[in-house]
Amino acid sequence: MTLPISFEFFPPKTPEGAAKLRGTRAQLYTHQPEFCSVTFGAGGSTQEGTFAAVKEILAEGVSAASHFSCVGATKATVRDQLAQLQAMGVKRLVALRGDLPSGYGAGGEFQYASDLVAFIRAETGDAFHIEVAAYPEIHPQAKSAEADLQAFAAKVKAGANSAITQYFFNSDAYFRFVDDAYKLGVEVPVVPGIMPITSSTQLMRFSDACGAEIPRWIRLRLQGYGDDVESIKAFGLDVITDLCDQLRNGGVPGIHFYTMNQAGPTAEIIRRLAPL
Ligand code: FAD
Repeated sequence: MTLPISFEFFPPKTPEGAAKLRGTRAQLYTHQPEFCSVTFGAGGSTQEGTFAAVKEILAEGVSAASHFSCVGATKATVRDQLAQLQAMGVKRLVALRGDLPSGYGAGGEFQYASDLVAFIRAETGDAFHIEVAAYPEIHPQAKSAEADLQAFAAKVKAGANSAITQYFFNSDAYFRFVDDAYKLGVEVPVVPGIMPITSSTQLMRFSDACGAEIPRWIRLRLQGYGDDVESIKAFGLDVITDLCDQLRNGGVPGIHFYTMNQAGPTAEIIRRLAPL
């Protein structure tokens, strides 16, 4: 049996970025992803870009998932966007609360992703396969690990079909999370999100913001490489391939790659894992 894989992209901001992303997708399609997803900016910043990239993926004959965040949104705008996505032929959503960019006030008619999932189900029935986000190392704003797990279970019970995790480097955190969620009655697939390591500074910045822990040994090794990009990439490929291998041996239902719109690192990890 082959392990299902999926790829995540962010919407390009320029025509050059869009052209480069087409090339990235063409390379990654050779690995036959189950679907490709496109992230969604809060406050409408990249929403048009998201829909445009999703349209391109569908036109390329590949299943596309649109990320969809609800922070600051009204029911009327969400209803309108869901209708647009249905008209485009989108059948898969990654339903999120999202984060407001600094400078935006709160407001909006949705508080949590669970509210969005329930709304999508009430408005569109089974039109969409709904993915939600999971946090094996605990969402940074959660009141406690237990509260976060309960919030995850509530999101699934509101109607999610499956989940994708925030990236992590410690497979124990993932397996513990899945076991604990199962004890709360969550039986949907929880697919690990995998972030290839390509740059030390970018990884440190992202990880601080999203609450993903970089183990001390990885952090110190990366710091030790300084500006030696080739060594960082070589080390990153070893570490992430090993992580994927551990996850595969533990029976994960699939692997979702945060490609950062680059084909090379993700393709190399898949090549090293072959046959998946
Ligand atoms: P929620 O599930 O609503 O959780 C948010 C916080 O509220 C958590 O701390 C949770 O514990 C708490 N909470 C939830 N329900 C309750 C409740 N009933 N009572 C009390 N507390 C509660 N961001 C984007 O802007 N665009 C994207 O495209 C995007 N894609 C992502 C894809 C994946 C796979 C992941 C893992 C994250 C993604 N994010 C994206 C980031 C995400 O939007 C942020 O992590 C955001 O802060 C939380 O969104 P959520 O859907 O997980 O929120």
